[in-house]
Amino acid sequence: MKIKRAIIGGSGVYEIFEESEPLNVNAFGRKVTLYKLERNGKEVFFLPRHGKDHSVPPHKIDYLGNIYALYSLGVTEIIATNAVGSIIPEVKPGEFVLPDQFIDNTRNRVLTFFSGEKINGWEPKIKLSDGTIREGVVHLDYTEPYCPRLRNLLGEITEKFGEKVHYSGVYVCSEGPRFETPAEVEMYRRFGGTIAGMTTVPEVVLAREANMCYATICLVTNYGAGMQKKVTHEEVIELFNEKTQVVRKIIENAVFSDVESLTCNCRV
Ligand SMILES: [Zn+2]
Repeated sequence: MKIKRAIIGGSGVYEIFEESEPLNVNAFGRKVTLYKLERNGKEVFFLPRHGKDHSVPPHKIDYLGNIYALYSLGVTEIIATNAVGSIIPEVKPGEFVLPDQFIDNTRNRVLTFFSGEKINGWEPKIKLSDGTIREGVVHLDYTEPYCPRLRNLLGEITEKFGEKVHYSGVYVCSEGPRFETPAEVEMYRRFGGTIAGMTTVPEVVLAREANMCYATICLVTNYGAGMQKKVTHEEVIELFNEKTQVVRKIIENAVFSDVESLTCNCRV
């Protein structure tokens, strides 16, 4: 089976694609801009989640358009990056987390391709590996929402670069764009959360619906509110910039690595 990979991410990852031309894809009438890179006969796509100039806030991202654009290009595996806050003391700023679970605390997002209705006049249809079509109203299993094979791959590469990485964790996704209150951080911790962010849902959900493997490497940029003095966007950016080079290297190594065997059950 042919593997085609894409990256969804932000700062730090742009550099890999600096030289490549933007590619506009029509996803049920909406324009999605992404970038293509070819190296050693491997073709990889990059989708800047927030736009190339970081102008799209988490709650305004066209998650459906983004994932459908990648699906229509034949992408089978997505490697994503996120900046997140830690909500437990054991996971520290500057460390990496590979979430294996999520809790959805978003409010106003379209969470599925399959509401049994058209999107922009387009009937959602996803072709599966055996040629059958996924359509109508669909309920999928999310026992293992993040691909264990890609998580391991990302973990091993991250360790190779001498970085501290947690191989599992619960990503609590909130609506944003504001940061959480201390009371919310406390609630998330009691729920069993590890990290908090604003973008994994519905990205990981839609990737599964579009029959793709999906994993994300999360850089912890700060502790959640109430665990440190105050969270500012500047300090998040500062830590992210500090780790930019290593994030770029991890992603680059992962996305161009060979696939030895497909040991996961994400796709059908
Ligand atoms: Zn998988």
